[in-house]
Amino acid sequence: AALGTRELALRERARRVIPGGMYGHMRVEAFSRAHPQFMVSGNGCRVTDADGREYIDLMCGWGPIVLGHRHPAVTAAILDQFERGDCLDGTSPVAVDYAELLVDTVPSADWAMFCKNGTDATTMCVTTARAATGRRKVLVATGAYHGAVPWCALRGKGVTAEDQAHLIHFEYNDLASAEAAAAEAGDDLAAILVCPMRHDIRRDQELADPAFARGLRALADRTGAVLILDDVRCGLRLDLRGSWEPLGVRPDLTAWSKALANGQPLGAVTGTEALRDAARSIYVTGSFWYAAVPLAAGLATLRELRKGQALPAMARTGSRLRDGLAAQAAAHGFEIRQTGPVQMPVLYFAEDSDISLGTAWAEAAVTRGVYLHPWHNWFLSAAHTDADIDDILDRTDDAFAAVRRLPH
Ligand code: PMP
Repeated sequence: AALGTRELALRERARRVIPGGMYGHMRVEAFSRAHPQFMVSGNGCRVTDADGREYIDLMCGWGPIVLGHRHPAVTAAILDQFERGDCLDGTSPVAVDYAELLVDTVPSADWAMFCKNGTDATTMCVTTARAATGRRKVLVATGAYHGAVPWCALRGKGVTAEDQAHLIHFEYNDLASAEAAAAEAGDDLAAILVCPMRHDIRRDQELADPAFARGLRALADRTGAVLILDDVRCGLRLDLRGSWEPLGVRPDLTAWSKALANGQPLGAVTGTEALRDAARSIYVTGSFWYAAVPLAAGLATLRELRKGQALPAMARTGSRLRDGLAAQAAAHGFEIRQTGPVQMPVLYFAEDSDISLGTAWAEAAVTRGVYLHPWHNWFLSAAHTDADIDDILDRTDDAFAAVRRLPH
């Protein structure tokens, strides 16, 4: 089906007043002709576009929505705080309540600081590591996304080589390459910055090899560098204690954002006792970093997640989705690859290096009311029930049939 008339009118207006009509990861032209650019509401695991078309949501706001859109407990906390004030002259006590709960939840955390975005959090981690060590070099995995500012941006005009002069790259899950990068940094190695898994766009996801994770921990210990876990995307979806806790690998610093406050703007850095003074020594702040409403939402979200049902539910419904998609693809004669944790799936077709088939399938799914992405991982939320997954699968079955009919 074609895009709706309200969608088209909004795009036309946006083109005049917003460069490119939209930018960044929500610029739908970059990935599809069928995805609506604009959304007007969300409820549970469903979102509605400007033309009133409803979608079962498999992107969850690109990660922030972990309990479902407008979760009642989070909404109540938001409204309650909003009634009393959001942006005040001093920090709301809720910041302390929330920091206490985070420190209690995350074994590698002795303290927490708050900010807005994942990029704020990764940047603060790097600054803290440099302050602690007095060194400059930071190891990062080739292709890993850590944010959208010049020191870490993966592409884009306006970024200079000097902006990234102190980054040294290694290959994810290749400890020897990280050792070599550390050797290159020599006595100037401040930090190793790494995601809990490889979730780069346009390629299969890769879980961390436990030996790789342990090896990075040992490498940091041996060199006196700070191990920073970028848990912005995975955080609070895979394991509340931090995504490498099941591997027994504790980072020195962790960057958090996305799911923290179920959609409210909030990021956080947590760290160990050894880094408390360094964290105190850096100057970081922002006009909106102390806003009370997102902090109240973060507290309510973590309280809800700590009840213990949400993460197992996402693992269960994620498995149901993965099994269902695998069976459908096979039944329609497609070879597909589904990689990464079931709560954060991504699907690619075999022999589809330009992702044209994957894009056609994603467009067919969106047209049938399932909002998902052709080359960025999706996100499950605790609001997805088994019945919602079955509803998704009804539509994706039809999407597989539709792309089967396309000329190849
Ligand atoms: N790190 C990771 C792993 C991310 O996925 C993202 C966001 N996609 C960021 C950092 C940056 O977060 P933000 O967009 O909130 O600045």
